[in-house]
Amino acid sequence: MESDFRVISAARQTNLVEQPSPRELIDDVYASDVLTLDDLRSRLSKPVFRSLQSTIERGTPVDAGIADTVALAMKNWAMERGASHYTHWFQPLTGSTAEKHDSFLSPMGDGKVMSAFGGSELLQAEPDASSFPSGGLRATFEARGYTVWDPTSPAFILRHSGGATLCIPAIFASWNGEALDQKTPLLRSTEALNRAVVPALRLFGASEGTRVISTLGAEQEYFLIAEEFYYQRPDLMMAGRTLFGAKPPRGQELEDHYFGNIPDRVLTFMSDAESQLYALGIPIKTRHKEVAPGQFELAPIFEESNVAADHQQLTMQVMQSTARRHGLVALLHEKPFAGMNGSGKHCNWSMSTDAGENLLEPGDTPHENLQFLFFCSAVIKAVDDHQDLLRISVASASNDHRLGAQEAPPAIISMFFGSELTEIFERLESGVGGRGERKGLLGMGSPVLPHIPRHAGDRNRTSPFAFTGNKFEFRAPGSSQSISLPVTMLNVIVADAVTELTGQLQARLDAGTDLDKAVGEIVRETYTQHKRILFNGDGYDEAWHREAEQERGLLNLRTSLDAYPQLTSEKNVALFERHQVLDARELEARQEIMFDIYFKTVNIEGELTETIAQSVLLPNTLAYLRDLYASGQSLAVKGLISELETLNDALYQALQELRTQNAELGGESAHEKAFHLRDNVLPAMLKVRRAADELEKLVSDEHWKLPTYRQMLFVK
Ligand code: ADP
Ligand code: MG
Repeated sequence: MESDFRVISAARQTNLVEQPSPRELIDDVYASDVLTLDDLRSRLSKPVFRSLQSTIERGTPVDAGIADTVALAMKNWAMERGASHYTHWFQPLTGSTAEKHDSFLSPMGDGKVMSAFGGSELLQAEPDASSFPSGGLRATFEARGYTVWDPTSPAFILRHSGGATLCIPAIFASWNGEALDQKTPLLRSTEALNRAVVPALRLFGASEGTRVISTLGAEQEYFLIAEEFYYQRPDLMMAGRTLFGAKPPRGQELEDHYFGNIPDRVLTFMSDAESQLYALGIPIKTRHKEVAPGQFELAPIFEESNVAADHQQLTMQVMQSTARRHGLVALLHEKPFAGMNGSGKHCNWSMSTDAGENLLEPGDTPHENLQFLFFCSAVIKAVDDHQDLLRISVASASNDHRLGAQEAPPAIISMFFGSELTEIFERLESGVGGRGERKGLLGMGSPVLPHIPRHAGDRNRTSPFAFTGNKFEFRAPGSSQSISLPVTMLNVIVADAVTELTGQLQARLDAGTDLDKAVGEIVRETYTQHKRILFNGDGYDEAWHREAEQERGLLNLRTSLDAYPQLTSEKNVALFERHQVLDARELEARQEIMFDIYFKTVNIEGELTETIAQSVLLPNTLAYLRDLYASGQSLAVKGLISELETLNDALYQALQELRTQNAELGGESAHEKAFHLRDNVLPAMLKVRRAADELEKLVSDEHWKLPTYRQMLFVK
């Protein structure tokens, strides 16, 4: 039987790749393809190095005078490692990365050439901006856009079979300075956070010159399937998800997959990917199986969020290219298989001083806890005030299929604090003593503070935003998206809340109130005002959805198209302008691009569904019917024929409906078109799928040409 061969050939072992020893990995491989500060120190004169270091560590502007020297050092370092080309490596609003390679080769005028790379090329480049989404930002001014070196993320080398390229992280902006990428607002938001949090820290006694950054560790979930299947699934190839496929008899029901034993072939892929990520200085720490069959996760140690965002993009890239070497395909889509667990990218976020003090780590002393409670309150306020922005930051056509289904958090943004921390806030609010015995908590005239347990356990997987002991875990982001936007949102909304609470604190201190009393009052008031956002229960419960919307007045922006319009609300424009992260035009452009990407994604899916049903599934069923017509008049044959005919007619009818909807535009604007897709095309696709999935269960394997979930998900 053809399909059995398919399965057997997909299950083959791939060649072993030669791997560095564990010692070598850590001592020699780690960061070997990264131009580190140490590399720079040994290659630059002291004054040049100091100037660059101050830019990298303290955010001072780049001194253009050192660019030539730094460029030369970079070129030499890269050529020693086999690089023939260089590129500004940036993150346009497509969600992926872009690079345009130039060689180091330079003519000398006498027909000879030499290698060259100057300061001006390091500082700035001009890619063809017209092919990247701009949301109309370029149209009104100039078509050109340019990339500018971001010295705060280290340069690195990307290798391919035939050579290597020096990649210089860069921002991408229009000619009049409007952000056309993911990185610019992220960098601006980091500055905004620093501007907001430092004054607060100073009130808590931090020394002058302290800087604050946000830290991020992103857990990446993904599926692996054998490459053979991938090439037989045009939907996976072109849409990244299966548009057809019945749930297998054995789904996730056995619950034996999570943290289960990892198959050898998958482990070999993982080790290979990890050693390449190590070379890029990406501190991968954890790997394990996830909930669904064929699903896995990889997580790094957290880093400063700009570097973490670059590293996350590289991680996705390396995983995808490495999987191929092992005869596998890494699927990063949020919902490649309907009815199975989706894939997320949990963003673990915190704030830290440049000295490494985690501002969301409960401390051992009352003073530390005072500060901790202050910042926690700011986060509560931020999330409650800006549920819409967090929702927008994870909104995509693909994540719409994941949110609210099979272990993914729902579209309603709420916060989980766990019972212990919630109780501490409750006690503070009511003024009842800590631990029962002692009265006089915060604000009650005594410095005695409740003991705050470290690492209060949390395993509530349905909460979109959970405190996990010393950081927040934002679980709504989707597996395929860039983490830049979620992190930008977190930085901005927390910056805003901290600014406001710091203002209140300062006013109380000026009025002569003690620090601990003043903080106590602020924590209590903030908690009372915003505690509706805290929810420790089951996020799937229908009762919660009712309570959240009707009693608590929380937002329930069910789909991306419900969320996008909020981006340019008066509140949000004012917020982003207040913190100089994005202006009104930049926000409008982003919104336009979100609608456009949604439109393109679903439009492709609608047409693919039509094509596959028409050119593969209908003919498959008809071929099987033809065989059945010729195989006698038994009860089984007659029964099967009648069932198949009924279902195939249903498929045919659903297909006519989808064809009609695909042909409709729904309107002129990107918005109208997107709504047409959501409201008419997606339901029509689903009807086609339902009929086809029923047929899949009846048609013989021999005739059904699309590999099934049963085949794809269980081959190890
Ligand atoms: P958990 O057991 O709660 O999942 P882990 O310690 O395994 O916590 O961390 C999960 C992710 O959170 C990792 O990527 C880790 O690096 C990251 N993380 C830990 N501390 C921080 C922090 N202070 N800021 C940002 N991310 C963090
Ligand atoms: Mg997790």
